[in-house]
Amino acid sequence: MKAKPTADNLHPHTGKIPLREREQRHGHRGCVVWLTGLSASGKSTIATELERELFRRGCQPFILDGDSVRQGLCSDLDFSERDRHENIRRVGEVARLFSDAGFICISAFISPHRADRELVRNLMPAGTFVEVFVNAPLAVCEQRDPKGLYAKARKLKIKNFTGISSPYEPPLKPEIELRTDRLTVMQAVEKILKRLEKKCRIKSVPGKSADKLPGAIRWSDW
Ligand code: ADP
Repeated sequence: MKAKPTADNLHPHTGKIPLREREQRHGHRGCVVWLTGLSASGKSTIATELERELFRRGCQPFILDGDSVRQGLCSDLDFSERDRHENIRRVGEVARLFSDAGFICISAFISPHRADRELVRNLMPAGTFVEVFVNAPLAVCEQRDPKGLYAKARKLKIKNFTGISSPYEPPLKPEIELRTDRLTVMQAVEKILKRLEKKCRIKSVPGKSADKLPGAIRWSDW
């Protein structure tokens, strides 16, 4: 559901290209793949590989990533509860625009609050919001700590750090759950692709798993 605008006298313009025609050109439905999970659970890693595989299949994917968005669109926001909510609201609106343009928008955000994720889901046409719970135990995330953020949070050098000093509300009924402490990156990507083949009509590549295709990086050492 959209927030009520503050301004009056708004007359949204309707273009002459129906979504269906855009989708026909792209060869798939517009949708949002929303990756949520703790820091270091694997959201950005999976988003990057998913985007590459989709692009290689001729789809139109695009990533919205927490750290990038916070350098521009949301550079005025911090990690307080209020600003986290506003961050997700803005990103949700942008994701919706990408989906309206017929893209597959891959959004990688901790998005710790269920209510905020539901708000984004409710912006989207039915069936076009795919919530993906990128789930690794806190201890695993903390051990990975690729950016050294958990170490800083434990030393109280970062305030409001999700999982340490700020809550994370896991999805109750995500479309997909990925246990990234048990799956390889490519197995996780495959699970999302399978869902998108069915629900967003992306082209499947029969007989080949994503990591066997020409040009694919093999992740067997994960
Ligand atoms: P997030 O975006 O959730 O903060 P990142 O993708 O930036 O997480 O970091 C996750 C880290 O975990 C990376 O260093 C990645 O290489 C590592 N990793 C190990 N196994 C996996 C896996 N199965 N899926 C995703 N990431 C993994």
